Amino acid sequence: DKPLRSFFDNLQNKAQETASRLADKHVRLAVTGLSGAGKTAFITSLVNQLLESGSTASLPFFSVVKETRLMGVKRVAQPDLRLARFAYEQGMGALNNMPPAWPEPTRGVSQIRLHIKYQPAGGLSKLLFEHSTMVLDILDYPGEWLLDLPLLSLDFGQWSEFCVSQMQQGVRQLLSAPLREALLTFDWFAAGDEVKLLALSEQFRLYLKECKAAGLELVQPGRFVLPGELEGAPVLQFVPFLGDKADWEQVPAGSNLALLIDRYEQYRDKVVKPFYKAYFSGFDRQIVLVDCLSALNRGEQAFDELQQSINWILKSFDYGQNSLLRRLFSPRIDKLIFAASKADHVTPDQQDNLIRLLESMVHHARQDMRYQGVKIQTTALASVKASKVGQTQYQGQKLSVLSGHDMHGQTLSLYPGDVPARRPAPTFWQTQGFEFPQFLPPRRDPLTALPHIRMDQMLEFMLGDKLQ
Ligand code: GDP
Repeated sequence: DKPLRSFFDNLQNKAQETASRLADKHVRLAVTGLSGAGKTAFITSLVNQLLESGSTASLPFFSVVKETRLMGVKRVAQPDLRLARFAYEQGMGALNNMPPAWPEPTRGVSQIRLHIKYQPAGGLSKLLFEHSTMVLDILDYPGEWLLDLPLLSLDFGQWSEFCVSQMQQGVRQLLSAPLREALLTFDWFAAGDEVKLLALSEQFRLYLKECKAAGLELVQPGRFVLPGELEGAPVLQFVPFLGDKADWEQVPAGSNLALLIDRYEQYRDKVVKPFYKAYFSGFDRQIVLVDCLSALNRGEQAFDELQQSINWILKSFDYGQNSLLRRLFSPRIDKLIFAASKADHVTPDQQDNLIRLLESMVHHARQDMRYQGVKIQTTALASVKASKVGQTQYQGQKLSVLSGHDMHGQTLSLYPGDVPARRPAPTFWQTQGFEFPQFLPPRRDPLTALPHIRMDQMLEFMLGDKLQ
């Protein structure tokens, strides 16, 4: 009967998991990117491609599929029941709607587990087993939280200096004006007043949210914009110091400043560090999605902040002997992909440039880092290809154009522009604009796999070696 069968199914699942762990067939794949980078669409498509790999999915570069060794993929209960379940069905529901819609983005950590059954390609596994099962755990977490890692090596004074100097840059000057005014008139040395600190920290959060809304990406502390379960907790109620130079050795006990320092330090020790300990140190492989095109759309400052964010995010993968990370945890990520998302927003002839642009951004950040045992790949992909490519004649020349549906469902046909292969020169921003439109997801038969660009190559790099 049913309960008994599910008991045995469970037992079998457990046994399979143990066996695949022994045979090193358990992969923990982490997916991150700043809000809007495309994590939700990406995981939805990844799961869909795998589930449909035996039928309608087009995965010519995924060797286990090409060699017809993939026997079946199924979703099973996730291992960590404290985490949100990745809303795959809801996401597919939205994409299958008429008219289709993008999945609702997830905002904290969520998880999904798949069992991938396959025939080993060769070696001992092929001799011993007719088939093997790989357990694939996919974990989704906000890239904003990675921007907190550098805080671990900054004390409150240094962190405040960074924030205050950042407030002077470009549009941040305007956005931070009311906050700076409030900070300048705040009595840092008066007896600690939690209510005042709450009001001030709300103003700080408002400023950070406005920066985000303006398309700026180097927004930290990460939990101030994406608090997860910490919404309302005093550990998120601090602000940077702005005033005459403080004597950090002699901060009066019980003062506002003493409270702020304590909260900042608790944020580092009780929020940031545990995240790295609980999750990060358990990942095997990581994909970071980067929305280069939106940054190009928004202009120079947004682009520069995206570059800075990549620099900061890369610190989380710096495993050099003296790196902060190695000293604190023992990470073991061995493959890392940086992927420019939404590549269906540019014509195929521009996709190489998009990859080169991201490569140059990552390279710029990697120069002074030593990577030990981490393979890094840069690519461009579309989780869900929402445009079609066509040709048109323009001034006697053939030109590729894209067509799709805009967010109101109107048919759109356009040439979105050239993608620069590296950071554009300053004058460039004044003379040429970018116009990458948003598309509705494609209309398609819900029984078919989602169309994509290069998801198969991504799967091969991330999982191919483990499915040998
Ligand atoms: P998240 O905040 O990182 O989870 O980002 P989402 O997955 O919610 O993506 C944000 C938005 O980017 C979506 O609502 C879509 O408009 C767009 N998007 C994401 N992936 C793709 C893609 O592959 N192609 C296109 N055309 N748009 C995408």
